[in-house]
Amino acid sequence: MDVIDELLANNQAFADSLPTQHLDVRPRRKLAVVTCMDSRLDVFAALGLGHGEAHVLRNAGGVITDDVIRSLAISQRKLGTREVMLIHHTDCGMQTLTDDGFRAELQEATGVAPAFAIESFADADADVRQSILRVRRSAFVPHRDLVRGFVYDVDSHRLHEVRVDEEG
Ligand SMILES: [Zn+2]
Repeated sequence: MDVIDELLANNQAFADSLPTQHLDVRPRRKLAVVTCMDSRLDVFAALGLGHGEAHVLRNAGGVITDDVIRSLAISQRKLGTREVMLIHHTDCGMQTLTDDGFRAELQEATGVAPAFAIESFADADADVRQSILRVRRSAFVPHRDLVRGFVYDVDSHRLHEVRVDEEG
């Protein structure tokens, strides 16, 4: 049995354990979380979030790409969210590569250099600051006063906040 077959069996048990219910498409806590795809960060458990409470946007690194801005614009303008929580984490896979190195690797393997930015980083705190500023500077995202950033420690499971003094 492959992994997806196992997950289908898990889903059957999950669905059996819950009543049929319909929640509003608009997240109840009016919150969007942007974080990494890392397998050790269970966003709902780590933040005490339930079904229907927040949007969770994930990619490699939890970086603010055009597609994340697209999702935040929809989240805020069409689905009522107001706050943005950005979470990077310790021991991130994005710290194991460099933009130039991975770009060259892709080009060598495929003959084509990717059009997208790799967005690797060495310092998670510094990249959180960068991410906060990118959101705060995007006019596509109307509510930018409540954008906060954090780094999650994958060993201790604790968050620490990263602050940006002032945009400059
Ligand atoms: Zn990561």
